[in-house]
Amino acid sequence: PKASVEPHSAPAKSVENVVIIGSGPAGYTAAIYAARANLKPVVFEGYQVGGVSGGQLMTTTEVENFPGFPDGITGPDLMDRMRRQAERWGAELFQEDVEHIDVKTSPFTIRSTEREVKCHSVIFATGATAKRLRLPREDEFWSRGISACAICDGASPLFKGQVLAVVGGGDTATEEALYLTKYAQHVHLLVRKDQLRASKAMQDRVYNNPNITLHFNTETVDVVSNTKGQMSGILTRRVDTGEESVLEAKGLFYGIGHSPNSELLQGQVKLDSSGYVLVEEGTAKTSVEGVFGAGDVQDHEWRQAITAAGSGCIAALSVERYLVRND
Ligand code: FAD
Repeated sequence: PKASVEPHSAPAKSVENVVIIGSGPAGYTAAIYAARANLKPVVFEGYQVGGVSGGQLMTTTEVENFPGFPDGITGPDLMDRMRRQAERWGAELFQEDVEHIDVKTSPFTIRSTEREVKCHSVIFATGATAKRLRLPREDEFWSRGISACAICDGASPLFKGQVLAVVGGGDTATEEALYLTKYAQHVHLLVRKDQLRASKAMQDRVYNNPNITLHFNTETVDVVSNTKGQMSGILTRRVDTGEESVLEAKGLFYGIGHSPNSELLQGQVKLDSSGYVLVEEGTAKTSVEGVFGAGDVQDHEWRQAITAAGSGCIAALSVERYLVRND
């Protein structure tokens, strides 16, 4: 098809096969597959996470669990490689945020900060954002003591064999705490309320684990450092008495949930009660034909680079089938 990417003011001339929104592992993998299938995908990479494209992995240092890199790879290097692979096969990349989409009428309309595109199908791969506590020293210690992913960071030398803490009282926090007991010397679970919100099964596992100490009615106020500038503890405050104290710990893991970046789809495709895009199980199909979801925006459970990439692949292959059927 003729290129239809146009500046705002000019009307779109033709209709793209597929627009991919997002430049994390899901978006770039979808772009690689769609480009190799000659679909000439248009990718809006966005720059919302940290002011750059590439998604959540741009905010981390070493990625040790992505297959194919036995010595690990930095997040930004991995994302740069995915980007170049997509570009090599002919994906058209725009470092622009999408501001509006209309998937109620076909062809669909996608409007970014710079242009408007019409398309037959959309892959929505806008990811999710780990909720943060916004502690005063959070930015200083992000990835240097504070993390939002136990599976990603628990085994790293920074945390292995150390006393660690997890903040939160739901399923995410209890899962993170249990996972960390595999590597940590001991794990403290900091819970603001006077009870856990997690499922009964998870609660039982936490209560029965001697390597986890529960601290109820405990607010996390900030992290503290030693004279070398390394994180050495957590400043906490009792909710009931207001008493403050420092808990010795070398790491703090946030287990307070994630927010899917799905605002653009609100009212257009079905989302679950937390805002995750609902896809038909085992597929990338959303409630609207021709709209596909991939990566963390539709996955509140696994949230890994490899699962995001896998679902991006499924979405692109689904688009290929969808376009053939509707030819
Ligand atoms: P994301 O990576 O979140 O990317 C979403 C993309 O969508 C971004 O590029 C964003 O800019 C774009 N976007 C959002 N809104 C718009 C819009 N309106 N218009 C255009 N673009 C938009 N996983 C691992 O497997 N191993 C690890 O070691 C690991 N370490 C991690 C460390 C940290 C600090 C974090 C936060 C996560 C880590 N993860 C790790 C998890 C992994 O990063 C995610 O599971 C994965 O990035 C999800 O990929 P995604 O493509 O779904 O979304």
